[in-house]
Amino acid sequence: MAYSTVKPPQGGKITIKNGVLQVPDNPIIPFIRGDGTGPDIWAASQRVFDAAVNKAYCGKRKMVWFEVYAGETAFKKFNTYLPDDTIEAFKEFLVGIKGPLTTPIGGGIRSLNVALRQLLDLYVCLRPVQWFNGVPSPVKHPEKVNMVIFRENTEDIYAGIEYGAGSPEAQKVLEFLQKEFPNDFEKIRFGTVEKAQQYLDIAGADLCDEGAAVRVGIGIKPISKIGTIRLIKAAIDYAIKEKRKSVTIVHKGNIMKYTEGAFRDWGYTAAEQLYGDKVYTWAQWERKKKEKGETAANAEQNAALNNGVILIKDAIADITLQQVLTRPEDFDVIATLNLNGDYLSDAVAAQVGGIGIAPGGNINYTTGNAIFEATHGTAPKYANLDKVNPSSVILSGEMMFRYLGWTEVADLIIKGINSAIASKRVTYDFARLMENAAEIKCSEFGDNIIQNM
Ligand code: NAP
Repeated sequence: MAYSTVKPPQGGKITIKNGVLQVPDNPIIPFIRGDGTGPDIWAASQRVFDAAVNKAYCGKRKMVWFEVYAGETAFKKFNTYLPDDTIEAFKEFLVGIKGPLTTPIGGGIRSLNVALRQLLDLYVCLRPVQWFNGVPSPVKHPEKVNMVIFRENTEDIYAGIEYGAGSPEAQKVLEFLQKEFPNDFEKIRFGTVEKAQQYLDIAGADLCDEGAAVRVGIGIKPISKIGTIRLIKAAIDYAIKEKRKSVTIVHKGNIMKYTEGAFRDWGYTAAEQLYGDKVYTWAQWERKKKEKGETAANAEQNAALNNGVILIKDAIADITLQQVLTRPEDFDVIATLNLNGDYLSDAVAAQVGGIGIAPGGNINYTTGNAIFEATHGTAPKYANLDKVNPSSVILSGEMMFRYLGWTEVADLIIKGINSAIASKRVTYDFARLMENAAEIKCSEFGDNIIQNM
């Protein structure tokens, strides 16, 4: 592949064969340092990664880091926020990692992260959420939180079809609905000038900048069967591989029947058709109950679960946000749509110590492409102070090593982080909430992890 702004180093190339990653002992891994606090965090993280690989394989295996650019750094160097070379490198070398990026303000790219996910069709946003002993938490039993969220990454609001109120596009959609689907159009509360005018008359004031003109923003939310199946399959494959107990499909299908409801229904069907007796679904339970009554359905479910079968269940999004707080132990792997996944992963991350420590991965299990990344932003006020918590990128790296099958490295990183936190020598974000803790720098926290592996 010809690169014009960067040059790949010498090393091996990760490939994929029959759905299985083929990882050489010296894989080239493209990485983006990131903006703001990114360079501080990356410096600490890279040292942790190299130390863990060295400790696990005594020089037999080694990462070959390949720096590529995006965000402000790329703009300064190449006058573009996302150079083609960066996309090409992630495409060619399959697996990479990145720090946080500043979202360009105004025009062009909506978000660099979203652009990368879409260009590489990284359809799973994977967010494991677990508590590390000693991390300050706002809940009484953070140790009960151990969830892995599979958030769909290419449809729903990520498809991003939205038209601003008053725009010609929104107007056209409104006219189309009025003509073709008049009953549905009636549901739009203020879809016509007359309806808007009525309200203004009642309110007795001119609340709109342009009198009674129709001002309705339009959003379209596509959810497909294929998009659903590949996400659900990724979640169940993970549950089987990692010996998890259940997969909960989280949706708002009671209201959005043909998008979120279909996601649930397609999910159940796919689970039963693709996994047979490796799973037991609540749809099966419902059928049995209808046929033979609740006792028989419960007996069938219990028998399946006693055999180590994975339970596929579902939950409405709003009640899920309550239950992950009140009974987190009921949630294991979660498969959900884009917007629900966004809310849920941040809410659950808060239970185990929040933003400085939450890792993420964006993966296409078919092509093998994956980018692991910090879930927080660039925290610009702390840039170059060597201050912030590097754990989000370090744990994203831990996910990357597990994805590559280098489990020994991933285990060492977890061990290092666990003991580093237990030592109470931690970065400011933890230190301000932990009793008797000493605040250390970002780089020193990296050292602490290495010493504790
Ligand atoms: P942010 O950068 O995530 O920072 C918000 C707050 O979170 C910080 O002030 C800090 O809290 C805490 N925080 C963030 N990173 C931390 C770390 N490593 N260790 C400890 N605490 C940390 O959110 P923002 O200020 O809204 O966004 C700044 C920029 O980042 C924007 O340009 C945004 O678009 C971008 N962004 C990028 C990504 C990404 O690349 N994945 C994600 C989100 C936002 P305290 O003030 O309490 O110390």
